[in-house]
Amino acid sequence: MNTIAERLQSAYQQIAQQCTKLGSKPADVQLIAVSKTKAVADILSAYQSGQRHFGENYPQELAEKAVALSQQEGICWHFIGPLQSNKTKLVAEHATWCHSLDRLKIASRLSAQRPEQLPPLKVLLQVNISGEASKAGINPDQVLALATEVAALPGLELKGLMAIPAPDAHEPVEPAFARMQQLSLALRAILPQAKELSMGMSDDWPLALKYGATMIRLGTAIFGARNYERHE
Ligand SMILES: *Cc1c(COP(=O)(O)O)cnc(C)c1O
Repeated sequence: MNTIAERLQSAYQQIAQQCTKLGSKPADVQLIAVSKTKAVADILSAYQSGQRHFGENYPQELAEKAVALSQQEGICWHFIGPLQSNKTKLVAEHATWCHSLDRLKIASRLSAQRPEQLPPLKVLLQVNISGEASKAGINPDQVLALATEVAALPGLELKGLMAIPAPDAHEPVEPAFARMQQLSLALRAILPQAKELSMGMSDDWPLALKYGATMIRLGTAIFGARNYERHE
């Protein structure tokens, strides 16, 4: 059984190797350690091994952990789960990033609820790139319109796109990653600052890097298997 520190070091090494293979720079890839359902002590182990970016799926859980670990300098919270309008305040107050924005109504609330003393919340639009295989996210043909509206909100900073391509009987994951890369390029043509592309999880991140991912979200590969009991 490997420790969190060992798994992290191994992930950093594998990411560096994959970047070398692809001719890209490891410094341009952000590893987000997805800590949902994991204990604060586990997050602290990862922090002490040098990890600073953490991803959470549940607003309440993110807020509790952010408060518990608020003394850890430079720690950065990414909200990556589905977001209902009655939970936007928790994300606006405790996260630095929100990857799962898919509606103007949620965007307006996050913008209005972002505390004035904090910099704008960095947001990514979640795209439903696998059609029927997943429900969350906007359709690819709605991206540019929503991006333009979100970019105008004062409490938010639009940084790019996110997707969770789901392989299914009809299609493997690779064409979905390729479509996301094209969409990201189209977005950057109108909003150059929106250059981040959050895609790739424990099982498919090397392929995501091949198609231009700048943020990869690894849970199991860092913290081991999850126990969902506390959310059921
Ligand atoms: C849980 C989750 C991850 C991490 O998944 P692993 O397969 O454990 O790496 C990444 N992104 C999102 C949106 C998630 O919900």
